[in-house]
Amino acid sequence: MIPKTPFQYQLWIDGNEVPSVSGKKFERKSPAHGTVVGEYALADGADVDVAVRAAREAFDKGAWPHTSGAERMKVLLKARDFILQQKEQLALIETLESGKPISQARDEVDWTADLWQYAASLCRNIHGDTYNTLGDSMFGLVVREPIGVVGMVTPWNFPLLIVSQKLPFALAAGCTCVVKPSELTSGTTLRLGKILADAGLPDGAVNIVSGFGNPAGARLSSHPEVDMMSFTGSTNVGKGVISAARENVKKVELELGGKNPQIIFADADLPAAADAAVFGICFNQGECCNSGSRLIVQRPVVEEFVNKLIDLVRQVPVGDPLDEKNKIGAIASEAQYAKILGHIEEGQKAGARLRLGGKSLPILSGQFIEPTIFDSVSADMAIARQEIFGPVLSVLAFDTAEEAIEIANDTDYGLSASIWTRDFDTALLTSRRIRAGTIWVNTFLEGYPELPFGGFKESGLGREVGRFAIEEFTELKTIQFHLGKKTSWWARAHENLP
Ligand code: NAD
Repeated sequence: MIPKTPFQYQLWIDGNEVPSVSGKKFERKSPAHGTVVGEYALADGADVDVAVRAAREAFDKGAWPHTSGAERMKVLLKARDFILQQKEQLALIETLESGKPISQARDEVDWTADLWQYAASLCRNIHGDTYNTLGDSMFGLVVREPIGVVGMVTPWNFPLLIVSQKLPFALAAGCTCVVKPSELTSGTTLRLGKILADAGLPDGAVNIVSGFGNPAGARLSSHPEVDMMSFTGSTNVGKGVISAARENVKKVELELGGKNPQIIFADADLPAAADAAVFGICFNQGECCNSGSRLIVQRPVVEEFVNKLIDLVRQVPVGDPLDEKNKIGAIASEAQYAKILGHIEEGQKAGARLRLGGKSLPILSGQFIEPTIFDSVSADMAIARQEIFGPVLSVLAFDTAEEAIEIANDTDYGLSASIWTRDFDTALLTSRRIRAGTIWVNTFLEGYPELPFGGFKESGLGREVGRFAIEEFTELKTIQFHLGKKTSWWARAHENLP
């Protein structure tokens, strides 16, 4: 249900809810219903400075980096329990702010809880190496230490999930953090502040500032007292984060855009592949970095496959995201809505064949777009190359595996890909040749906290999730121990003289 009055949010700094330094606020309207659903304190550079100071103090003088893995684990597990206890409220906020169907928002909360649980399990499993092979008088230790203060900037498509691909892992490593969620979807991230305090996290270890990319996100990225930036968003803004981070040579981890190929070989289980392709275009309105937006189908089955898709997509209910039966909700912002419609128009002008959809739908606020399928798309068309981030599918045809691989790799992105075939050799050979961080074989869009996630090429830098995620948030330190009496360098220098 839409609340009678908008939810109210303050910044979360040093364990307290606080207004912004300027006292200013901003609001968010539900993209589906057009009503204001949240009012948030508006952080600018000054608020980011206060938040970073709190995180710095908590790292340099506070307890968290020195807390044992066992204690950290307890905090993260409690946070996970509280997230699940608040599942309905969190899912409602996600749906109201982002426009996604409520059933998908609930799944997102479950997925989030699983990430916190998995990160908790890593707290007691951070370790380094020892070297006992350096000679009798030397012993080498390589230890992992938390990298320090981590700045996090997140997008609007999976607000709670994406911050949870970063925050629990950074906390597990012993870092302290400043988080800036998207200005469109700040609610659930701001609620994490209280959840973590209730779970026992010390004040200042996590600070959350709601505000716009410029100035709040930009200030965080260039801040001299931040040791690392973990950013998820568009490739363009990610490049800006790299430039800003050079100020103090901070480490940068980036999760960026994608134009992900789904390759359907003629021998595949076509009904299963069609179901996955429909999921890929409809899930989260196609506003998904992993969206299977380029369908590359072997020529003998293209017509049959596209007809099957059209038949299935027609059955997917679009409408009020608060209505349980709907599977496609509202497009998150007016800018995104205009961008998607612009791509559809441009695809038609370029000569692609519009097979389904292509129009906006007069539902509620009107920010709804029909799931859209183009075929006869060629690899040089913009709809085959640019990330549309909406329910728009481009179908390309191929003859040989070699050609499919070439089309799949013909993009600046390299986030994920899927391959559908019953032939083991084809599956493995194609998986090895595609330059992307995740390859699904005979499945699509599955994710497990154990498995690392990230992109090749302009899709990103570094990895999130999995045990590798912990390594991202640590520095390696080498400690060399001399054992026994030390020979002076002068004596050593003369040892070998005749
Ligand atoms: P965006 O780049 O516009 O914004 C992302 C975040 O960056 C927001 O919090 C925004 O306020 C902030 N920001 C904007 N300008 C900034 C600046 N100058 N300095 C620092 N921060 C700034 O992206 P979006 O529209 O919110 O999200 C969609 C994009 O995110 C798509 O390209 C999508 O592929 C990508 N994405 C990637 C992944 C992944 O894991 N690879 C996951 C989800 C979304």
